Amino acid sequence: MIFPEMSIQYLKGIGPKRAALLSRLGIQTVADLLHFAPRKYIPRRFIKDLNCGEQAWVLGRVIDTSIRMTSKGQLFVVKLSDGTGSLTCTFFNYPIRARKQFEWNKLIRVEGEATLFGSELQFVHPDVDFNPEGDEQLLPVYPLTEGLRQKDLRRAVRSAIPLISEIDESLPQYILEKEGLHPKNVSIKNLHFPDNMELAMHAKSRMRFEELFYLEILLAIRRQQLKRQGIAFQKGSKLARKFFDLISSNSKGFELTNAQKRVLWEIFEDMEKPSTMNRLLQGDVGSGKTIVAILCMLKAIESGYQVAFMAPTEILAEQHYLLLKEFMPKVGVNVRLLIGSVKAKDKQLIYKEIEQGDAQLVVGTHALIEGGVKFKNLGFVVIDEQHKFGVMQRARLRLKGVNPDFLVMTATPIPRSLSLTIYGDLDISVLDELPPGRKNIITEWKNEGKREEIYRFVKNKLDEGRQCYIVYPLIEESEKMDLKAAKEMYESLKDGTFKDYKVGLLHGRMRGEEKESIMRDFRSGNIQVLVATTVIEVGLDVPNATLCIIEHADRFGLPQLHQIRGRIGRGSEQSYCILLSSRKISALAKERLKTLCEENDGFKIAEKDLRLRGPGEFFGIKQHGLPELKIANPITDIKILSKARNWAFKIIDRDKNLLKPEHAVIRKTIIREYRDKFKFLEAG
Ligand code: ADP
Ligand code: MG
Repeated sequence: MIFPEMSIQYLKGIGPKRAALLSRLGIQTVADLLHFAPRKYIPRRFIKDLNCGEQAWVLGRVIDTSIRMTSKGQLFVVKLSDGTGSLTCTFFNYPIRARKQFEWNKLIRVEGEATLFGSELQFVHPDVDFNPEGDEQLLPVYPLTEGLRQKDLRRAVRSAIPLISEIDESLPQYILEKEGLHPKNVSIKNLHFPDNMELAMHAKSRMRFEELFYLEILLAIRRQQLKRQGIAFQKGSKLARKFFDLISSNSKGFELTNAQKRVLWEIFEDMEKPSTMNRLLQGDVGSGKTIVAILCMLKAIESGYQVAFMAPTEILAEQHYLLLKEFMPKVGVNVRLLIGSVKAKDKQLIYKEIEQGDAQLVVGTHALIEGGVKFKNLGFVVIDEQHKFGVMQRARLRLKGVNPDFLVMTATPIPRSLSLTIYGDLDISVLDELPPGRKNIITEWKNEGKREEIYRFVKNKLDEGRQCYIVYPLIEESEKMDLKAAKEMYESLKDGTFKDYKVGLLHGRMRGEEKESIMRDFRSGNIQVLVATTVIEVGLDVPNATLCIIEHADRFGLPQLHQIRGRIGRGSEQSYCILLSSRKISALAKERLKTLCEENDGFKIAEKDLRLRGPGEFFGIKQHGLPELKIANPITDIKILSKARNWAFKIIDRDKNLLKPEHAVIRKTIIREYRDKFKFLEAG
């Protein structure tokens, strides 16, 4: 007796070697195998019904084999009959030993595309199964991995089918009824061997629904846990108004965009509620999230609470600090910077100020969540570029206060359907408008050979007073070599091409002060060309920099390219981004670079990215500790997603501990299949 939870090695015909191949597809247990969805289905046809150009399979007996000589080599020809007609299958240079298998009168299955040869339909190089099993009409076609054949997988699934009756239902009966979904075991059978296409599609939908339902159940539970009794901040904010007046008198005519105003209002309203706020502020690069966040911080400070503002890199934390240091003291607010490179002695001092409440606003990096940091009354937390942090880090910061409100920000624009998944536990505010006067960045993809031409162009712009980033990829696996390449490039540009200009180098391995001084020089215009690794990827804001050259652009992902490009185009001057790569790059990389050249809008880029990646690899799903999606695709399955979300949130709202008898099935399924996600539920 074997059970669905057992290893696939218990199935007939699966040894260690096949098991290893299957595990590459994420299949370890029989249940995994049964949940593994086919990519498509190929219909059975009688020979007389074959259509030209159609993928199909035919069951027939061998009635003749022959050999023909052609200019390209030997052509092995097999004729099949199924009683409705005869079909010719041709094979070029078919191994002689293997030809014997086509015994006269043997029943075989051939699978391929029917093409017209003269006036006759034939299969060229069809897949052949000499031991056709089953009597189904549609054959499943699974995603494969090298070394694994379609028929191996089909055979494995077929031998697992009897175990379907052991698979437990995972959705409440009343949802099945209301949504018109088939029971789980019926759906699994139809997923693999459906009698018709309609049943196959129904089965797929049901499996997608289930996957998205559990994702949303987890999110709903987490959301419940995040909603606690929290702080109700005072209405309005005089302090924020004062700060804003200061800023706008500093740069004349500065006004919030409509989107900024709307979002500010949303956040203020949420902060005034007595429950904790967990809100994501989403807005494309350069949409002006910082100012919104600062105004909210001032509201919290005015109510007498401390604020923590966390950024993923030291240079970004410093940039925020520079801005705050200039204006905060003028409205009577004490700001401190806490990053790893602060000297131990100063750190102790800052710790003390934080503990006593003198430091009202603390800007920093991960250093903020270190053990020594104790706040007197942390009431509001802002996390910038939150996609660079994990849920766990958010959770640790939460513990520094007593249920503080959270505002997390990201420039990684993701389509709504994906926000419902990876950020499904948060409320979302969107900045969908850029400050006025921004021009689209002109982006071009060039190959190495165009370097001189590009440098000439850059020099022209430098002479007009602009500044330039040259960005190098830095990937963990090849960090040392990447860093070396960036340094070498810096040396050669400094002493060569750009010898009449001021060139600087910036990378993550530099000491804090060094980084700080380089950034200071770049901000003030003392450095004209900044050769940098991806440390500059997020958040930096130097509006006079209007040029960005991305080296080995093919090695970056789309969201990352968009982020890096977001360092320019932050003022009213025309900006230019040049993507450099060799000519020989993968088709996928080409597609990414092309997308970036054609598109400035982060949302559109994100959608394209999702399409290029395919389900399972959705940005951030794994990072966020959520279950991976195996069959559902939040983009194309948005309707199913919305339904699943509605159900899930309704259920958790009414029965948060899943104690009602009709929800026992959900509880069981979570324990059985999502046990490893408990950490995600507890976080925060
Ligand atoms: P991001 O959303 O990428 O964090 P920032 O907050 O860094 O963007 O803002 C980008 C730039 O736009 C900054 O130089 C900021 O001063 C400027 N900015 C923000 N809001 C406005 C506005 N309403 N009008 C004009 N400039 C603005
Ligand atoms: Mg920012």
